[in-house]
Amino acid sequence: MSRPIHAKLDFSALEHNLRAIRRRTDARVMAVIKAEAYGHGLVRAAEALRAADGFALLDLQDAVRLREAGFRQPILLLEGFFAADELPLLAEYELASVIHSSQQLAQLSAYPRRGGLAVWLKLNTGMNRLGFTPAQFTQVLETVRRHPAVGEITLMTHFAHADDAVGVEAQLACFDALVGGQRLPRSLANSAALLRYPQTHADWVRPGISLYGASPFAEVSAEQLGLRPVMTLASEVISVTELKAGDRVGYGGSFCAERAMRIGTVACGYADGYPRHAPTGTPVLVGGQRTRTLGRVSMDMLSVDLSELPEAGIGSRVVLWGEGMPVDEVARAAGTISYELLCALARRVPIK
Ligand SMILES: *Cc1c(COP(=O)(O)O)cnc(C)c1O
Repeated sequence: MSRPIHAKLDFSALEHNLRAIRRRTDARVMAVIKAEAYGHGLVRAAEALRAADGFALLDLQDAVRLREAGFRQPILLLEGFFAADELPLLAEYELASVIHSSQQLAQLSAYPRRGGLAVWLKLNTGMNRLGFTPAQFTQVLETVRRHPAVGEITLMTHFAHADDAVGVEAQLACFDALVGGQRLPRSLANSAALLRYPQTHADWVRPGISLYGASPFAEVSAEQLGLRPVMTLASEVISVTELKAGDRVGYGGSFCAERAMRIGTVACGYADGYPRHAPTGTPVLVGGQRTRTLGRVSMDMLSVDLSELPEAGIGSRVVLWGEGMPVDEVARAAGTISYELLCALARRVPIK
């Protein structure tokens, strides 16, 4: 027998979520599969998403892996190329590249090949992470248009506030003011914009987190959005301890029992990707019942309250997140977002 922790991936939920997204938009769907498809495994996730119109990721090597696995859709490198010597590979594998910087433009100028490179030209409309400024944009677009290596051009931007109260209005107005006159395909929307602002859908939407069945919004659950969790992180209770009032739990003894209680030790810790910052009270399912974590999360184990769960014992199934325990709730309790928990699933956790 091995350690009981495992991640169950429900790829039919990935297909379901893609269909749920399609029902909300007429735009083409570029499935974002960066960070090993948000921790779900690049190629297996892409296979479940084979009905997507395109894929977006970061690493050239991953893009090549996808092509070699037989995917024919557009594949977009979200940070583009990093050096001129990558350009021949982009051509060979027909990869599309974001161009966001003058340095990339200079590298492109030194590239002799003619035609074919699909470019997604990125405008910085206020996120101030990647992209040309509004002041640079018109000139840059002309340069890219005239460049002999460049094929189709798509205009893109990325929202900083699609998931919060600030919204997309200012960035959308900036984008429209600059590209309104261009007859080129456009792409703006991440999951939050796709779900909340239909006016941002344009030609291509770029959902990530929603495909994996988590919500981009603090106040709306994935279930309310019609999304199903793809990843379930599960394990078992491997030890049970009876506490007396005043007994403490775990490193630093940060949890102290106020009365006699029964607790369980679960084979899951921060080396599995469970957040160490999850405080006492973080929700968890034991034998299908909600309870809470107790004390500090250790590297390989954490403690749960079994006082109200008399049937639970060694071998009881524990769901850390996923089916029946939304990853968004666990993330909120731990002061982070579902994205971080999903991406951080450790390599040592077997996938089932
Ligand atoms: C990660 C990313 C997305 C997807 O964002 P979600 O919030 O996961 O939907 C879309 N576009 C860009 C440029 C990204 O980096």
